[in-house]
Amino acid sequence: MKIGALREISPGENRVAMTPDSATQLNRLGYTCVIQAGAGMAAGFSDAAYAAVGVEVFPSAEAVFAAADVVVKVRGPESTEAEMLRQGQTLISFFWPAQNSDLLEQVRERGATVIAMDMVPRISRAQKMDALSSMANIAGYRAVIEAGNHFGRFFTGQVTAAGKVPPAKVLVIGAGVAGLAAIGTATSLGAITYAFDVRPEVAEQIESMGAQFVFLEFEQTQDGAATGGYAAPSSPEFRDKQLAKFRELAPEIDIVITTALIPGRPAPKLWTADMVQAMKPGSVIVDLAAERGGNCDLTVPDEKVVTENGVTIIGYTDFPSRMAAQASTLYANNIRHFLTDLTPNKDGVIVHNMDDDVIRGATVTHQGAITYPPPPPKVP
Ligand code: NAD
Repeated sequence: MKIGALREISPGENRVAMTPDSATQLNRLGYTCVIQAGAGMAAGFSDAAYAAVGVEVFPSAEAVFAAADVVVKVRGPESTEAEMLRQGQTLISFFWPAQNSDLLEQVRERGATVIAMDMVPRISRAQKMDALSSMANIAGYRAVIEAGNHFGRFFTGQVTAAGKVPPAKVLVIGAGVAGLAAIGTATSLGAITYAFDVRPEVAEQIESMGAQFVFLEFEQTQDGAATGGYAAPSSPEFRDKQLAKFRELAPEIDIVITTALIPGRPAPKLWTADMVQAMKPGSVIVDLAAERGGNCDLTVPDEKVVTENGVTIIGYTDFPSRMAAQASTLYANNIRHFLTDLTPNKDGVIVHNMDDDVIRGATVTHQGAITYPPPPPKVP
């Protein structure tokens, strides 16, 4: 079978779903690979680099759709791309089926099988295919780099001949995959790092990465009643305590990285306008929850704003795309691992085993039917 990668058409999207390395691995699984001309250019992979490992370069998306049995891309298809899918063809990309019901119906009508990388179950066995984690890890790292770019001082404390420099103080709110990556990056740059999460079980992870866990004095410690590892909305009393603690910290924190999310809900507002007002001039906030409305009251999605009191608030929503080479390498690997599971005989032929929890969980259309949402996981 042939696997074809498309050039992303969403403005500003620099990633690509196949790299020369992943194509080489896919060859070992028995597939041949094709790519649309220029698809890897913005991520640093030239057409020549693909051609050098035997990937055929096609001039247009139409040509890739016509030739490939499996089409891979990063963003979910635009309607014009979905129109090019045909009966029995497989598409692998991010898809966000809950937010894209019309698109889901469109790909079903085309008779295509769609594997949504955002629906890969977050279980140990599927970690190698977990593109959400790969991208969150990059976002957390890049958030700190971006903050450093706008912060006029060192992260680490220094004693120099010209004077003593205090270390920067960084607060990370939300210690999931992105938050832990941000903590690791900030501590490795020498900042004093604090972190907060409503899930008490992450305290150990936070501390093992060199940050201090921000404890609240609350009867039941943190109360983020975890469900399947995710956070639940906090009670009003807990939220009040949390905001009071942040208000206390605001004047001394130089950089805030917010990553707090609750599945299926808008981002909780945790860094309020008065906290921004209380921060020192030159402080920086990076709001990784901007796409879901932001954790900070003053975040503008996709923008960088500077407040009257000199605080920079970054609401970019494209951090992985800003590190397109790294993001493409990891994303292409996630797809390659998924295809490894789809190719049990390593003969370049997909076996779409709907009894496999991971394949079933990520498949949102198959054989003319919408297969989203998947059935609940089997209880052992
Ligand atoms: P996420 O992006 O959904 O949320 C980010 C963090 O925000 C979470 O840690 C959450 O607890 C926190 N949060 C929510 N409300 C908050 C509030 N009011 N104040 C402070 N923090 C708040 O999280 P994620 O990175 O997708 O990870 C969620 C869970 O999934 C974790 O338990 C993680 O270990 C697990 N996970 C498992 C796998 C796997 O096994 N393959 C892979 C990735 C993640």
